Amino acid sequence: MTDDAANANLKSAKPKHIILTSHQTRGSTKVVPIQWGAADPRQRGPVIGSLRSLKHRNVIGTHAGSYGVYRALAVASGVLDPTHKADLTNTAPVVPLGPYPSWSDPDKIVSLDPFGAMAGEVFADCQGDEYDILPTIAITKAHINIPELKDEIAQGRLQVDGSLLKADGSLVVTKAAIDPVWYLPGIAKRLQIEEWELRRVLFQQTGNMFPELVTRPDLHVFLPPIGGTTVYIIGEIEAIADPSKPLAVRVHDECNGSDVFGSDICTCRPYLVHGIEVCVQTAQEGGAGVIVYCRKEGRALGEVTKFLVYNARKRQEGGDRADAYFLRTECVAGVQDMRFQELMPDVLHWLGITRIDRLVSMSNMKYNAITNAGIEVVDRIPIPPELIPADAQVEIEAKKASGYYSEDGVLLGEELAQVKGREY
Ligand SMILES: [Zn+2]
Repeated sequence: MTDDAANANLKSAKPKHIILTSHQTRGSTKVVPIQWGAADPRQRGPVIGSLRSLKHRNVIGTHAGSYGVYRALAVASGVLDPTHKADLTNTAPVVPLGPYPSWSDPDKIVSLDPFGAMAGEVFADCQGDEYDILPTIAITKAHINIPELKDEIAQGRLQVDGSLLKADGSLVVTKAAIDPVWYLPGIAKRLQIEEWELRRVLFQQTGNMFPELVTRPDLHVFLPPIGGTTVYIIGEIEAIADPSKPLAVRVHDECNGSDVFGSDICTCRPYLVHGIEVCVQTAQEGGAGVIVYCRKEGRALGEVTKFLVYNARKRQEGGDRADAYFLRTECVAGVQDMRFQELMPDVLHWLGITRIDRLVSMSNMKYNAITNAGIEVVDRIPIPPELIPADAQVEIEAKKASGYYSEDGVLLGEELAQVKGREY
């Protein structure tokens, strides 16, 4: 087939008419219900969010979080056949994970599908052409190579063992990518609001993007157009849920400026690398380490807001001061933080975690969310002072003054105001 003929075929595959799914029709009574919290994945039912399975869809929204919009561009521009069915051959998890008792507790996991990695196998017999049941979790393995780990090996802070940490500084990991799957009654309960109120405000604040939120009370699961979570596992996967073995965890919220580009205005990358170091040490003691990386850039306010706040901080009277750190964010965004750590422990429950021996975080919000979720935390590991960049003193002192975990003194009042950052 010529390219032109292929393009013509793709264009003809694009549906020209619009099928509204905002009201329940006779056809939609065939929808397979999702019994959130059921222990048997067959009884729980598949999450069907693919637009190929229009009459079987049992969720609001579609797959791949915010990337669903790129799929629309690909279909609109004729490069993706909207009838393409995913070929899931050889895509199953490389290591088994779960199920754990938490998977069948509808209160413990509400923001991801615990069976999301198994969709291809569990519903293999529903893979007829009219169904398109896609995994929302993928589990693979990788070698990661972070320059700071080589330095730590050279300094004797980390030991090469040849299997987990290799002589060239590369680290062997198992990693899982998780797309958000929200069980709306559970999210509402977690946030202590009415489900109807949650649905109404989600509808309104997304510019009415998802009418089913208000017109389809029979659909309880929402695939929100937001970023997901990546889990990096260091050590044996079985050790994570085994309370007789030590476990280190860092829950890290994305900070592209520091994590990737090495900006020195915050402690994100150095603290992330320290978390990996503690994970390696704990795995080498026979336990495991877990890094949870959440796409919640700029405290889930986004990078534009974050950079606006940087400007407001640097240009305010008296310069960038620790005592005005949170205030400047609040001036621009209306709040200090929109990460909603209440939902974060779901991923820890998915991993079967019941106790964390070393929580590599100083955040009181993360600590409170984890312990309120019934997970025991033994030790909290602050960032070593020598890893804090000079310009990030403003952030760390402001956070300590606001209640972040600290093993040394907290500065207040005039002393706090004296902690200043660079002009730019
Ligand atoms: Zn940062």
